[in-house]
Amino acid sequence: MSFTVCNILGVPINNVNLNEALGLVLLYLEENEKKIIFTPNPEFIMNALTDSQFKKILNESNLNIPDGIGVVIGAKILGYNLKERVAGFDLVQKIFSRIKNTDKTVYFLGASEETVILAKEMMEKKYKGLKIVGTHNGYFKDEEGNIIIDEINKLSPDLLLVGLGSPRQEKWIYNNKDKINVKVMIGVGGSFDVMSGNVKRAPKIFIKLNLEWFYRLITQPTRFKRMLKLPLFIIEVLKYKIKGDKNEKTIKK
Ligand code: UDP
Repeated sequence: MSFTVCNILGVPINNVNLNEALGLVLLYLEENEKKIIFTPNPEFIMNALTDSQFKKILNESNLNIPDGIGVVIGAKILGYNLKERVAGFDLVQKIFSRIKNTDKTVYFLGASEETVILAKEMMEKKYKGLKIVGTHNGYFKDEEGNIIIDEINKLSPDLLLVGLGSPRQEKWIYNNKDKINVKVMIGVGGSFDVMSGNVKRAPKIFIKLNLEWFYRLITQPTRFKRMLKLPLFIIEVLKYKIKGDKNEKTIKK
């Protein structure tokens, strides 16, 4: 399979729709090579501008899905036609519906202890036959990381979901990838909060109108400062376009 990769301010974004991303993950789950998937939104890309380590990590993943309408708009300004926004949460739900009642297993790492346990219970109820073999909260000290990795390796899940917030989750995945024996690792942000039911996803109409960000802004006003990065992102994209730095390539997946 080959998918175009857009370079957005130095961060590669794969031009995949939800079903194509799902197809890739299902393929990755059958392979023996470890795969890393990230879900960049404009905030990731803005952070990568000032954090070269983060930018390098985002350049070394196997798949970066366009998680945020801002990414699709930014890409458009640069002349790329991304097929659609692919929310990491939706991708994970699709994966669950495809791997339930198979031998594939999942581990959840992230969020508070109550949230991650509740997320496991809710997902097992929603996707009967889904095998979530373990959970760990995301509030651990760096030195406790190896104990968690040992536990994950003992359970040897196929899929590891890491929701520690960005960029902590991407850095944790990248720095520990060689020690963790799983097939696929995905940075999932606040997905466990939504899976547990503690945080509601926007109503469908907001998602359809690409206004999920607005819903999050009015329901979680503490995110306001973070969201200021969106207009700044568009300004950066416009500056980049004026410089004419576009660099498109097609890679084989
Ligand atoms: N989190 C965590 N450990 C930390 C900091 C955050 O497990 O040290 C969790 C937090 O509880 C939440 C998620 O990481 O579940 C981050 O959520 P956020 O809304 O910031 O992520 P987004 O979806 O916006 O990327």
